[in-house]
Amino acid sequence: MKQETCFERALFLSWYCSRGDCKFCYMSTQKDRIKDPKKAKRSKESILAEAIICKNLGWEIEFISGGYESFDFEEIIQLIKEINNITGQKQWINMGVLPEEKLIQLKPHIGGFCGAVECVNKEVHDKVCPSKSIEEIENTFKICTKHGIKKAMTIVIGIGETINDFPKLESFIKKHNIERITFYSLNPHKGTVFKESPTIDYYKEWIKLTRDSFPNLHIIAGAWHDKAEYFSELLKAGATNITKFPVIKYFNSKAAKEVEHQVELADKNFKGSLTKLPDIDWNKTTDNPKILEKIKGYIKQMSKP
Ligand code: SF4
Repeated sequence: MKQETCFERALFLSWYCSRGDCKFCYMSTQKDRIKDPKKAKRSKESILAEAIICKNLGWEIEFISGGYESFDFEEIIQLIKEINNITGQKQWINMGVLPEEKLIQLKPHIGGFCGAVECVNKEVHDKVCPSKSIEEIENTFKICTKHGIKKAMTIVIGIGETINDFPKLESFIKKHNIERITFYSLNPHKGTVFKESPTIDYYKEWIKLTRDSFPNLHIIAGAWHDKAEYFSELLKAGATNITKFPVIKYFNSKAAKEVEHQVELADKNFKGSLTKLPDIDWNKTTDNPKILEKIKGYIKQMSKP
């Protein structure tokens, strides 16, 4: 029997980041434009419509991201509960470091906490992510451990680390008993100091070494739509699932077809689809007319030739 793999989509609650100065990040180029976190928040209907699309297309939600400064905390908990109801599972959160009392409140509703570590070489990390301290994230991991909350982390490859840093990642994963890790390959954004993505050979080496050291770790590997041909290599190197592909915009595109082809090349069964809409009556997926309107907007976008 072939192993199964699927696409995981990060579900964003807002487009605001209070740090906004990680040197590789698109947000760092938008910081001056987005000053008010309340204005950068998505509508509840749009978020829930996206969760319904994910569920019906067979995409997992990688984590729920952003939103901490944009929504009241009670609103966030309510949203997480509604997303959990739609997807039938408790979702992970990636909302920056959180204080202990908030983590305790979230615990019954989440799969776990994800720390956006990005780089385990401290020197590189502090240069590239000056306002996002590893210590703060590690402290949050310790609080999670104290309360039995599962932990995940994200890593960006190509921001100045070298493969010699792998032992640092290995000991970090062991130290905090990390259960899920998402790797991204740097996607250089206009207006940032970065100009080049890492090569596939270098990127997949990180995934291979991680898989060799942690046979049971849930590894998610991301690549942008212009690197769709990376995915077979990433899966063969040991990734469990794939992410980052901008699927709503590129649904059923040449690149989306290439991603599905790559999954075949890796000899895996793909759960869900990036190319075919399910034959369902979308009117029956929600009782809320505003959510339905948003769903129809997404479907229209995904149906474009
Ligand atoms: S990587 Fe995260 S914390 Fe850093 S600027 Fe981007 S959104 Fe903000």
